[in-house]
Amino acid sequence: MRVITIEEHYADKRINDAVAKYGSSTNLADFSKEVRDAYNSMRFTGEYLTDFDRLRLDFMRKQKVDMQVLSYTNPVPDTVPKAEAVRICKLANDILAGIVEKHPDRFSAFATLPMADPEEAAKELERCVKELGFVGALITGPWQGKFYDDPMFFPIFKKAAELDVPISWHPEFTAAKIQNYYYLSENYPLKAGMMFATAGFGWHLDVGLHVTRLVLSGIFDKLPNLKFICGHWGETIPSMLDRMDQIMRPEVTGLKKKISDYFHENIYFTPSGILSKSQLEYMVKEFGAERIIWALDYPYIPFESCSLDFLTDSELTEKEKELIAHGNAERILHLN
Ligand code: CA
Repeated sequence: MRVITIEEHYADKRINDAVAKYGSSTNLADFSKEVRDAYNSMRFTGEYLTDFDRLRLDFMRKQKVDMQVLSYTNPVPDTVPKAEAVRICKLANDILAGIVEKHPDRFSAFATLPMADPEEAAKELERCVKELGFVGALITGPWQGKFYDDPMFFPIFKKAAELDVPISWHPEFTAAKIQNYYYLSENYPLKAGMMFATAGFGWHLDVGLHVTRLVLSGIFDKLPNLKFICGHWGETIPSMLDRMDQIMRPEVTGLKKKISDYFHENIYFTPSGILSKSQLEYMVKEFGAERIIWALDYPYIPFESCSLDFLTDSELTEKEKELIAHGNAERILHLN
């Protein structure tokens, strides 16, 4: 069984240095020094992100992964300020194209887009797809406090629909004011609060909210061919869809369809390395195996717990396993 995984990260020192110099959307300066130092110490820059010939291919052999679709790791340079956004994102994409060119049968790529300049971002997406052979884009947000339902970002989504490539959504650090209000507390350890605000919960909720804002803005009524990919089994949203349908009906939202319809028809889901049997069963039952794409979130998942056995030993049919392991990725990303 061919295996393609689609949330697999890379990094490059030149890009990290540029992001450190120009800043990203989440301004660590807004936090207290204690929080800032703790976040800076967390940022993973290990060679698993930068070594493609040895560590990564070795991981792929062990985990039976035939192809990784690569994307930049956090902090993703897509939210750097406008003055440098285009240059840095183009550099990140050119570096990635070089990696794919060296191992075209093992790697494919999601573009990084300069969200600060949506017209340029749309052009860069077109360049990446048509000239570099990329298969979509990975975005984080919001940008400088602006969510992407703002009409200024529409050209990016219009271009993705036109090119028939998906936009994959990825979490980023949540704004300091949100973290301070919701997640950090004197009543539990700082580290627990920081994980609650980010990789343990908060930044997933952030993506779920962001994608739902796009749905509510009518993006899929305007661009019915647009496709999103949500990791981490849907970033907290799937379990709330029945409630949203009940309360936010089309006569309330002004949308053509129920909110859940867009999640069933325009959005694809991945485990992002959260290999939970009950989540897999629920998501296949709710959305169908044809909407789930295998993803391991390399190199952040503990390597001992990302075996393909999770999928092959599951109670899904062979056809369902094939769709999740490679069939859906091949179809959506045009990887054949
Ligand atoms: Ca990730």
